[in-house]
Amino acid sequence: MAFKLTYATMFNPPEELHKGFDGAVAKLKQNLGKEYGMIINGKDVFADDKWEDHSPVNTDWVLARLQKGNATHAAQAIAAARAAFPKWSHTPWQERVKLVRKAASLIEQRIFDLGAAMALEVGKNRMESLGDVQETADLMYYSAKMVEENNGFVKPMGKDPLVGYDATNVSVLRPYGVWLVVSPFNFPFALTGGPTGAALVAGNTVVIKPATDTAWIVRLYAECLRDAGFPEGVVNFVTGPGSTLGQALVDSKEVDGATFTGSFDVGMKMYRDFAQRNYVRPVILELGGKNPAIVSRHADLSDAATGILRSAFGLQGQKCSAASRVLVEEPVYEDLIGRLKEATEKLVIGDPTERATYLGPVINQSSYNDFKNFTEEINQGGGKFLTGGHVKTGGIFDKGYYCEPTFVTDLPFEHRLWQYEMFLPITTIGKVGNLDEALKIANNVNYGLTAGFYGSQAEVEMFFDRIEAGVTYANRPQGATTGAWPGFQPFGGWKGSGASGKNGGGLYYVQLYMHEQIRTLVKPASNGKSAAAKKKAASKPVKKTIKKTATRKTTKKTARKTRR
Ligand code: NDP
Repeated sequence: MAFKLTYATMFNPPEELHKGFDGAVAKLKQNLGKEYGMIINGKDVFADDKWEDHSPVNTDWVLARLQKGNATHAAQAIAAARAAFPKWSHTPWQERVKLVRKAASLIEQRIFDLGAAMALEVGKNRMESLGDVQETADLMYYSAKMVEENNGFVKPMGKDPLVGYDATNVSVLRPYGVWLVVSPFNFPFALTGGPTGAALVAGNTVVIKPATDTAWIVRLYAECLRDAGFPEGVVNFVTGPGSTLGQALVDSKEVDGATFTGSFDVGMKMYRDFAQRNYVRPVILELGGKNPAIVSRHADLSDAATGILRSAFGLQGQKCSAASRVLVEEPVYEDLIGRLKEATEKLVIGDPTERATYLGPVINQSSYNDFKNFTEEINQGGGKFLTGGHVKTGGIFDKGYYCEPTFVTDLPFEHRLWQYEMFLPITTIGKVGNLDEALKIANNVNYGLTAGFYGSQAEVEMFFDRIEAGVTYANRPQGATTGAWPGFQPFGGWKGSGASGKNGGGLYYVQLYMHEQIRTLVKPASNGKSAAAKKKAASKPVKKTIKKTATRKTTKKTARKTRR
């Protein structure tokens, strides 16, 4: 069977994948530091201010020079998207499907070059990097497939029930207009490409604003769309600080809908700011997580240890789906933590482009400082380090932001870090007396993104039923809480983790980018009468109905009056 790259199959890839990736890294390293524009109305646009994008792997490496866009660029990008909307939204959905598929296929063709850039800019290991790129293509294919399978969301409804009419009723989903996509640093490709693909295939035009830390790789995504041949203005790409450029986009009254993926605080601010208009506009929020992995006394501990390790430290714990809390039933606690310690100590930390590396650096200086502060706080709060607890120093480690994979035990459940999303390779482990207690603790957070369970079949049903999360896994060694794939595990959160209640890469996602219009058409009668006669005939029963209703209402009113 041919190999299909997903987050669940990436652990033992074929040799060609390694070769392709190694070749692309070598080539890319010869060509770093180029200047990239924004893309507005199909043209490269350069700002007066620029910034240098340094790699977290080695901060001496300048990956790219990028534009510090401002409110004027925000307005230009929105105006271009607005101007392109009428034509794009009236382009037959079959054409839009074709173009989105073409772009997805281009992404697949460029997977090694894009994966290499991803590893250098985000610090993801090679398989995670390639996974992010392939996931993007699959998210785009999936939205295209949904539109096609639903006939462009043009669907006949029931017949008009009014006597005397022959009418058709058709439900049509139509695009909103200009759609803003704001994406985070950790899955810069998939979380830009998933929403963008859905918005485009639905008929919206798009303005993309990537995270500052990962603007280069998203520029390479925008190039895939440009090269696929989207008309000018349909996709626009602007770069610059969230607090200025991003805020200007959010504050614009010319944006008709938005998808924001990022932290809870920024997302909630955006939600509130976005409400400042004369009517409600759709905003899809995908926010943080504090995801629990629960291990019962009946669990297969080998699977549990493998799945927890992968989900705690994949991408250095900087996944919204990371297993940041582990709750273990007392009888198997010692056994499980022993396994976790042994396996964690074997993980290789280093340059993420190297084949053996599991953990690369964290994203930036601020996250690196956070790691030092959190570990200090844990120390003072009574937590013990089962593994890690320090940043890495010496050699290459002094050039980038490297932190040890850290499991914490004995931190009291009342400590704030059991609730707070640290977004680093730090996972707290707690001992519980039974599964009731585990579920109570698991659900007692603001978030509800992903959750994992290891235990018996009967316990699994109870877990699925009671856990408050949008993505749930049981007995999964590939990842306790991570590794969703479009079309298999649609991804989205409950509570403070998401706003739409529908998961990306799933059956109900692309519809979020469209509003419904019902089209009722009364057909001309076909019995040979003149148009005027038909009109007269058709209007008669209506008059009667209105009269009757009025009479009934009047009678009721009179009756009530009489009773009083
Ligand atoms: P941030 O919230 O810091 O930033 C997200 C995006 O918002 C960035 O592009 C940022 O730009 C932009 N931004 C910042 N301020 C504003 C503003 N005032 N107006 C408009 N845009 C703004 O998140 P991170 O990039 O640090 O990503 C990590 C977070 O994302 C975690 O909380 C994680 O859980 C969450 N996440 C959720 C996912 C989900 O599916 N639920 C998936 C992946 C991540 P800039 O970088 O320039 O500041």
